[in-house]
Amino acid sequence: MKKMEEDDVHVGLTITPTTLTACPRSTLISRLLPYYALPVHFDSPSLGTALHGDAEQGARELGYEAEVLIEADIPGIGLMKGRPDMICVEPAGYTGTSIIQDTKLTNQGSLATVRNKKDGLAKPDHCAQLSFYRIMIHKTRGILLQDGIVNYVCPLSGPERAKQGGTNWVRRPVKWMDLDELLAFKPFDGLTTIGEHAAILNEAKVQLAAGKSPEEVIAALPLYGYTYIGGNGRWCQEYCEANFECSRLGGGEGVLANWQRNLHFADPEETA
Ligand code: SF4
Repeated sequence: MKKMEEDDVHVGLTITPTTLTACPRSTLISRLLPYYALPVHFDSPSLGTALHGDAEQGARELGYEAEVLIEADIPGIGLMKGRPDMICVEPAGYTGTSIIQDTKLTNQGSLATVRNKKDGLAKPDHCAQLSFYRIMIHKTRGILLQDGIVNYVCPLSGPERAKQGGTNWVRRPVKWMDLDELLAFKPFDGLTTIGEHAAILNEAKVQLAAGKSPEEVIAALPLYGYTYIGGNGRWCQEYCEANFECSRLGGGEGVLANWQRNLHFADPEETA
């Protein structure tokens, strides 16, 4: 909780690598409105923050720089900020090597997806996030990181862990993307690019400065997340912590007719 309260990056409309791969509506809701995650979501933001607090301590003991603030003006985006989990530009005894590592809290299904991915790489959205950090670090420190690793961690109890072969985490290398690839990249196979997400967030800043309320700005936006992973609203219903508030605001060009009806959490046994 303390770590969440001390977060000085994911506030206001600061653009971070994570926000660029998220639904812009969810970014605006979580940044601008009183916001809480529904317990039925297993509250992944707070669990993830707790996990990162522990990882940060361990990273420092291993000689990594942990959660260092990086700010850079990126063409096509504007000012970006971020605190990558772990970077090491000259590990002791391995001078010349440089690496960034990021930890992602995941569920069992997603852990299995990463394990079974044929290319053996981190998920494309995470490759995009770490590629942004690489560009930001290159701009501010002149160092082009060689390697990127994503550690996928799933909180599992003992018996569940045993079913997964005894491990609750996997690590996967990142495939680097350059800035042109990043701006054209469509997170979660949706319809909008990262370049468009940046433009939406920057335009929201202009509209808020002109006196519009956060609710007005958000309600006028399409449901970007509806188009993710198959375009059937599964992302909104299963993965978005802001979906209750998003549903309440409604509105927006592109709102699909049955989305609000399906969004609220029905007890599966009642609807069976
Ligand atoms: S419910 Fe869907 S459209 Fe709404 S904020 Fe979440 S991801 Fe975006």
